[in-house]
Amino acid sequence: MTFNNIELFPFTVAVNADDHLTVGGCDVTHLAADFGTPLYIYDDATLRGMCREFISEFTSRYPGARVAYASKAFVNPAIARIVAEEGMSLDIVSGGELAVAKAVDFPAELIYFHGNNKTPEELEFALEYGVGRIVVDSFHELAILDAIAGRLGQRQDIMLRLSPGVDPHTHAHTTTGILDSKFGFSVETGDAAKAIRQAMKATNLDLMGIHFHLGSPIFELEPYALGIEVVLNFLAQFKEEGLQLREFSPGGGFAIGYVRSELPPPIADYAEVITSNTKRFCEELGFGQPQLIVEPGRSIVGRAGVALYTVGGIKDIPTVRKYVSLDGGMGDNIRPAIYGSEYEAVLANRMSAEPAEVVTLAGKYCESGDVLIRDIELPVIQSGDLIAIPSSGAYAPSMASNYNLNARPAMVVVKDGEAELIRRRETFEDMMRTDVF
Ligand SMILES: *Cc1c(COP(=O)(O)O)cnc(C)c1O
Repeated sequence: MTFNNIELFPFTVAVNADDHLTVGGCDVTHLAADFGTPLYIYDDATLRGMCREFISEFTSRYPGARVAYASKAFVNPAIARIVAEEGMSLDIVSGGELAVAKAVDFPAELIYFHGNNKTPEELEFALEYGVGRIVVDSFHELAILDAIAGRLGQRQDIMLRLSPGVDPHTHAHTTTGILDSKFGFSVETGDAAKAIRQAMKATNLDLMGIHFHLGSPIFELEPYALGIEVVLNFLAQFKEEGLQLREFSPGGGFAIGYVRSELPPPIADYAEVITSNTKRFCEELGFGQPQLIVEPGRSIVGRAGVALYTVGGIKDIPTVRKYVSLDGGMGDNIRPAIYGSEYEAVLANRMSAEPAEVVTLAGKYCESGDVLIRDIELPVIQSGDLIAIPSSGAYAPSMASNYNLNARPAMVVVKDGEAELIRRRETFEDMMRTDVF
């Protein structure tokens, strides 16, 4: 192997005799020729391997544990079908994500509907489809959901999302379980207590359990242990009021490696800390063994995805910076711009070329902040070269936009030397389809 950041790439990457990067047995230069760039390449083996690793690490330690794929990391019908085939449950946060689940007949009872401001229409759609759990996030939602269920003549199983006041030490934009958060019922303010009592009394709702989600990506194990302890200790007081904790979810947020200098703990370590603390505190507090639900998003699709770009113009500003412009950028990956996220890259069509200079990989969008990687050491690059950025599968394509009216990229799933198109590149007509002439 001729590259040193292989742990950031899908499991199946290799370099072939032509010195080209291959993923899932597919030469990326052929993929670029066949499908164009920017191209998002998902490796079937890594996607399925991550689902299997999560299911086995959690269920081996905690029988009956459920792993729900958080689809906001990226979902479309092809991905939803793969996670369904792997026996995953599904987290959704919108009617749009539910529509994708419905389009592939994702089993409704395995769906958890999250979100801090679900609309009445979205809730009604969820009840009509038979979504297993609505994870209620506010008093407003509790009231309208109870009313909608009543109107439809249904009972609905719910969980409540609590905000335990635990800081997971990640980016402020993706921290969700602290006091100053728009998500969940705060333990600290008394809202959580009030919500539990109201939910137990609701006419048409059955409170199945409690959920919390601290944020993402969480590289430390301690926040999970602390969150579980805080929430379960808090819940103990409601036992005599009749609270049965049939289900318990400490959310998702499991980290992936974007750069070699910051690699996450193994899934087994997350599984160990979550299952052991859940068991310990449930036992101590007399909650029995609730069903455990974990919700990985990023860690299922992140490493499986590689973004492939073609180099266009190169601008050298001597002693200042050399800009290498790619044919994508913030429209297909806004994470560097909004979170300051870091990535690594390889020269995919000359994998054994030696690193030679420090460059900045810029996008093609009309913003100076449209930089995918600032100051990365790469071989001497020429226009027409192919740049591959690993760990691109999560949140980049799902946050993609049509800014500057650039078309959103095509996506393929690769397996055993074959590439299957799972989303074609947008056309100009696609971008005007909703416009009224
Ligand atoms: C976003 C989200 C997740 C998944 O987070 P990842 O970092 O992608 O694992 C899980 N649960 C809830 C409620 C979320 O909002």
